[in-house]
Amino acid sequence: MHSPRSTIIEPFALEHATVATGDEDGRTLSDTTIVVDGTGKISKIGPSSSTLVPPGYHRLDATGKVVSPGMINGHIHTFSQGKPLDPKGSTPEGQRKMAKLLHNPVGKAFMYATSKSNIMTMLNSGVTTVRSVGDVGYELVKLSHQIQDNHIVGPRIIPSGPLLAIPDGHGAPLIALESSTPDEARATAETNIDHGARALKIAATGGVTDSQVPGEAGEPQMTTEQMRAICETAHANDIIVAAHAQSHEGVLRALKAGVDTIEHGCELDDELIALFLDNPNSLRGYSALEPTLSAGLPMKFLSQETLNLTDVQMQNAIPVVEGMLTGARQAHEAGILVGVGTDSAMPFVPQYATWREMQLLNRFAGFTPAEAFHAGTQVTAKIIGVDDVTGSLEVGKSADLLVLDENPVDNLRTLEQPLLVVAAGHPIWRPSVDRFKDMEAQLDEAYK
Ligand SMILES: [Zn+2]
Repeated sequence: MHSPRSTIIEPFALEHATVATGDEDGRTLSDTTIVVDGTGKISKIGPSSSTLVPPGYHRLDATGKVVSPGMINGHIHTFSQGKPLDPKGSTPEGQRKMAKLLHNPVGKAFMYATSKSNIMTMLNSGVTTVRSVGDVGYELVKLSHQIQDNHIVGPRIIPSGPLLAIPDGHGAPLIALESSTPDEARATAETNIDHGARALKIAATGGVTDSQVPGEAGEPQMTTEQMRAICETAHANDIIVAAHAQSHEGVLRALKAGVDTIEHGCELDDELIALFLDNPNSLRGYSALEPTLSAGLPMKFLSQETLNLTDVQMQNAIPVVEGMLTGARQAHEAGILVGVGTDSAMPFVPQYATWREMQLLNRFAGFTPAEAFHAGTQVTAKIIGVDDVTGSLEVGKSADLLVLDENPVDNLRTLEQPLLVVAAGHPIWRPSVDRFKDMEAQLDEAYK
């Protein structure tokens, strides 16, 4: 895999491109020139006939190619590549064993290296901004600083650090800090923020992949008061909060507490829809949904043997996945902001497959291809709070862009293999990823 290390940005221009804007209506610009300056920003974009390229800039002829904003993934984990998990590893004992291995200097170095490799896969797949929502430690904080300081080339990272959960709750203890009271919850939020987290993530309910008893997934875990304490702490630092929530009660509590994004979700009713659209306790007055269909739908379409899930996990998965899917459709119809987040590192969610979430929103949740691509660029930029710097191709914004064979609005699959990825002005010339061939074949068959 190509792992770029260049820290100097050589100014360049892409000439005669068709631009796929990422607008909701799939608008394109024909014969356009995009000029990227030495600070990695877009300094000009306009008709090729009237957009002058400054002397000394590299000029790339993009005739016949499509240039689009880079993809944005608002829900990633980087602790694994996304192959099926060993169910034994997700029991509390299994997690405690793993936590012991990983929460020490050698384990931290291993997790940093694993995360870096997975982040480079993200970049090579065309993703130029990510938000993590549950890390083992602060490995993504470190990577985000190295990328921001141009020590390495990578996607912009909004890192969460470990998620925030109740004792033995979802993700605990492997990737979560535990709390039992609002004061303790506030302290865990402060710990993450002190370590450089720029996003927080709460486990509001149980989950599927570490469930041990029927009904555990979606069962409310953290109290509204605990979550409110976390939201207050985050919002005071201009940080948004994500909540893993897979049931009506869990989503309701999280929204009332002021959570800014609901991850996964459930079937919605009028009360929930109203709270998403107008949420007084959230940072910006609304909350958004990231349905993460990429993580859910394999459990609907693939066999238990293929998934390597226990009976309990499978039993828990079925209602949760149906809820996620219904909620995604309802949110789209109701005008709730729906973002692209894949839950990478989960079983059957490889790091290179952000494009597939757009495929699934289109195929199963009522999005047009233009709306799905809009979600994976401009909408997710807004949801995770980076729309002032990225998500669209405009003068002054970061040069986060892709050169593609086709317009994603005509064929979302073209996003699977960008010809060129540019992250904050750094070109990745031959982006390539190692795909898991069997998994891709199984998913293509399931979603055809
Ligand atoms: Zn997740």
